[in-house]
Amino acid sequence: MKYYDKLVFELSKEGRTGYSLPSNPYPAGPEVPSALRREVPLRLPEVSEPDVVRHYTNLSQMNFGVDTGFYPLGSCTMKYNPKINEEMAGLAGFAGLHPLMHAGLTKGALKVYQEMNKALASITGMYCFTFDPCAGAHGELTGLMIMRQYHMKRGDLRRTKVIVPDSAHGTNPASAAVCGLEVVEVKSLENGRIDVEALKPLLTEEVAGIMMTNPNTLGLFETEIKTIAELVHGIGGLLYYDGANMNPLMGVVRPGDMGFDIMHLNLHKTFSTPHGGGGPGSGPVGVCQRLEDCIPDLKVSGFHGNFGVILRAYAYILSLGKQHLRKVGQYSVLSANYIKECLKDLYKLPIDGVCKHEFVFDGLINDGAHDDVPGATTLDVAKRLLDYGFHAPTIYFPLLFHQALMIEPTETESKETIDAFIDAMRKIAGEAAQDPEILHAAPHNAPITRPDETAAARNPILKYQEN
Ligand SMILES: *Cc1c(COP(=O)(O)O)cnc(C)c1O
Repeated sequence: MKYYDKLVFELSKEGRTGYSLPSNPYPAGPEVPSALRREVPLRLPEVSEPDVVRHYTNLSQMNFGVDTGFYPLGSCTMKYNPKINEEMAGLAGFAGLHPLMHAGLTKGALKVYQEMNKALASITGMYCFTFDPCAGAHGELTGLMIMRQYHMKRGDLRRTKVIVPDSAHGTNPASAAVCGLEVVEVKSLENGRIDVEALKPLLTEEVAGIMMTNPNTLGLFETEIKTIAELVHGIGGLLYYDGANMNPLMGVVRPGDMGFDIMHLNLHKTFSTPHGGGGPGSGPVGVCQRLEDCIPDLKVSGFHGNFGVILRAYAYILSLGKQHLRKVGQYSVLSANYIKECLKDLYKLPIDGVCKHEFVFDGLINDGAHDDVPGATTLDVAKRLLDYGFHAPTIYFPLLFHQALMIEPTETESKETIDAFIDAMRKIAGEAAQDPEILHAAPHNAPITRPDETAAARNPILKYQEN
């Protein structure tokens, strides 16, 4: 253990402080009333300023972020977050805003909302957006509330069901259930797309709509989308677009043109604002023109959502412009297909063919199982990648495959970085074939090895514990 791996609490020395000020020549101010004072002295560590700085810097380096390395976490679009976005959000006129300020002082911010509304409408083919929702899932709930509102306004009270494909992200059925809708699952075909024949009998007059993402969670474009849109509209239902997978389509295809009526975007994914660890995010919801009047009845967050996130995304759009936004989509697709082709001789590819921005392997082709030694699993591959300095891909999602390993490189990585990742994945496949024990024990170089993930999530230890 390095000296500075010690926690700051263990470095504490009685009487040591992080400052030394000249003695105060002025009389002391009024005392804090005893009722407002703590009885027990706080047991804070007594350390110097460098000790504190090193403590936090070392802690920060135990984590993995997009600023430390390649982060191919499928479904999450962990693209690089350009620093110009941060600079714009840090401008005093924006950073100093308070939501209760007089409207006359917030014109700049209102202008950002207005311009962003126009930009997102033109990128997606929707009519207008609300910026209240603070995450993708929050957007789904808002969008479904709009869907219900639409049917209720027309006095159509039978529509209590929403159709969700079996490949959907878990938040889709969850949002539908929270919104009081009954979830009806539609199966996928062998080729990973929605089975249109299986969809037809589900389309009754009780259906409020369908939730889809396109490309879907397998990274595959739903080629039958026009037919699906016609069928759903034909029975009076609406189409909801989960825009979390918008990255590969930007500047190329628009959900509005595919027939979608309502959608959300994840600004923290497609539009490069920082995410991970739960927030802050932004999930603006767009609607087509005939649903415009279903928005104002709703209030899903205080004020107007996470303004700082919306502002960063606006900076991102302006700094790329129309032409380069299109390249984002194209390069993200190119990178994903390149990785897939370079690895499919070693990893099982259940659905072959051109993918969009991401794809799913189903574990190793040769997992090295022999005699009493079990083969290397997807979890083992993910853990071993950490030793090579890469964040793991998404594992065991989507649920359609047992050993799912979902890779999304994004457009922001150089060919050299992507090649280094491919190299590591190939080495790991070689290790598994020869001696899967190396993988079972991985990671070998990380600050912690394999925590009990359930216990870590349910009973996290969030403060220092003395032995
Ligand atoms: C990330 C994601 C969501 C949920 O978005 P959050 O912003 O994490 O709430 C929904 N659907 C898909 C396909 C996603 O990838």
